[in-house]
Amino acid sequence: MSKKDASKRPSNFIRNIIIQDIKSNKWGGKVITRFPPEPNGYLHIGHAKSIVMNFGFAEEFNGRCHLRFDDTNPTKEEQEYVEAIMEDVRWLGYDWGEHLYFASDYFDQFYEYAEKLIKMGKAFVCDLSPEEIKKYRGTLTEPGKESPYRNRSIEENLDLFRRMRKGEFKDGERTLRAKIDMASGNLNMRDPVIYRIMHVPHHRTGDKWCIYPMYDFAHCLSDSIEHITHSLCSLEFEDHRPLYDWFLDTLQVEWHPQQIEFARLNLTYTVLSKRKLVQLVEEGAVDGWDDPRMPTLSGMRRRGFPPAAIRDFCERIGVAKKESVVDVALLEHCVRDVLNKTAPRVMGVLNPLKVVIENYPEGKEEELEAINNPEDPSYGTRMIPFSREIYIEKTDFMEDPPKKFYRLAPGREVRLRYAYFITCKDVIKDENGEIVELRCTYDPETRGGNAPDGRRVRGTIHWVSAPHAFEAEVRLYDRLFDHPYPDRAKEEGKTFKDYLNPNSLEIIKGCKLEPSLRDAEPGKVYQFERLGYFCADSKDSRPGHPVFNRTITLRDTWAKIEKKFKEQEQKRRKENKE
Ligand code: ATP
Ligand code: MG
Repeated sequence: MSKKDASKRPSNFIRNIIIQDIKSNKWGGKVITRFPPEPNGYLHIGHAKSIVMNFGFAEEFNGRCHLRFDDTNPTKEEQEYVEAIMEDVRWLGYDWGEHLYFASDYFDQFYEYAEKLIKMGKAFVCDLSPEEIKKYRGTLTEPGKESPYRNRSIEENLDLFRRMRKGEFKDGERTLRAKIDMASGNLNMRDPVIYRIMHVPHHRTGDKWCIYPMYDFAHCLSDSIEHITHSLCSLEFEDHRPLYDWFLDTLQVEWHPQQIEFARLNLTYTVLSKRKLVQLVEEGAVDGWDDPRMPTLSGMRRRGFPPAAIRDFCERIGVAKKESVVDVALLEHCVRDVLNKTAPRVMGVLNPLKVVIENYPEGKEEELEAINNPEDPSYGTRMIPFSREIYIEKTDFMEDPPKKFYRLAPGREVRLRYAYFITCKDVIKDENGEIVELRCTYDPETRGGNAPDGRRVRGTIHWVSAPHAFEAEVRLYDRLFDHPYPDRAKEEGKTFKDYLNPNSLEIIKGCKLEPSLRDAEPGKVYQFERLGYFCADSKDSRPGHPVFNRTITLRDTWAKIEKKFKEQEQKRRKENKE
């Protein structure tokens, strides 16, 4: 689905709210959304869901989507993350135009709003320590206890807050808290902290501030300042909505956006929490944030996942109000779906076995025509060299084949893709009994892969010409976790790292690839015929020496799941009719 092809988009509850709001002219017909990442890590596929939704609605309804960095916690945030996040959003295909914002740009405004709350008698400076605040807070079944500092005078509060700002107190010594209701059934409403002291420089504001606003205070105000209409966030913020509204109502802001919650994306065989991902990076379980096994957008890019596939995936999973876990096979299906149409076909042999074609003249070479993409004739054809010595895949030969093995075996004839029929005449082994070479003959009449006498062969195998092929490293990536629900580790008495797949990376050196791949552009994805999709690595490839990452195999488990589902549906419908 193209990005702008909105008519085919399935309806969902948020879209319906937006359509209603446009009809009733609630926001003057405007749709302004935002994607608000905290720059404390790299974006993952869960963020993509939020990006596709926010930018998607803006596009669909001729509105706009802001990119806003929620940079209110200087201890965890870095400029490196800001840049990586911008790159990832752009790569996904979205453009925020001039609407790039930072919550830290509003620090002065937030401060003014905080003083306003104090002057209204709606906020107070509290001297309780963080531990005491927690203790006073109560639980879901027990009401909280009011802070002994709750009834300070407005003058004292203002004075103390201004001195907090000036740096007169140490970290944790005082906080500014909203004065709401310590008996509220909603813990978020029990006099939440809105400012804390942190003598930490900020990546944008430097040493200007030593007090920083809390997320709940900064987020609603940022939305209001930017005139956001629909503030979409994940379900865990549902309990924060009363607070979101309380700040905006109490401060009587002129623009009060609507917060709407949706279920975040969970994926099988995957963890999608920055806290966990950062752990994998820091402990060296993966080779950085952009390791091709990571569920980060930078990892997926390096792996060769096309952005169109990720957008398509996000559209297909839709938007719901209930948490669920999406089968990662669906994402993989979307990747194959795009690559099948766009990836040029080439030939490469991962585990080479040498074949000498005895009746092919020594020193002779020829070029054979190969189709670049059977799905799309506009990709044209290319010429591939053929000669007396070739490599085939070790697994395409068996000395003693079982019944259903249709590839090469002693005395058996197969087709070399785009080339000739060959017949295996002899097997050569080394002193350990290991097969090192096959002696074959070819039928010159079968050039291009068809016999004029109409005789058929059951197997077609890929190959490369030995003197023309070049050697390369290929990395076979598999799922990072071998457990469908690594997030459930705790319930099973384990940690999510216990579920790391020990075979998620296999490095093969000495693969033989067809010569056209020598100049593969880093980041470009090819289909190695019969093997899968492979992407020229953008980090480790050198000019003339590409390294390839397996993006994904050809086997589509989702297609099977879907087929089964459809068959069951059909059966059900038929039974209902009868
Ligand atoms: P994490 O849990 O991975 O640390 P986060 O929610 O803390 O993620 P933010 O940078 O605050 O990360 O997220 C930016 C936006 O992306 C938020 O609006 C958040 O709701 C959304 N988001 C984060 N994770 C997911 C997810 N798995 N599915 C959908 N949206 C998500
Ligand atoms: Mg967050």
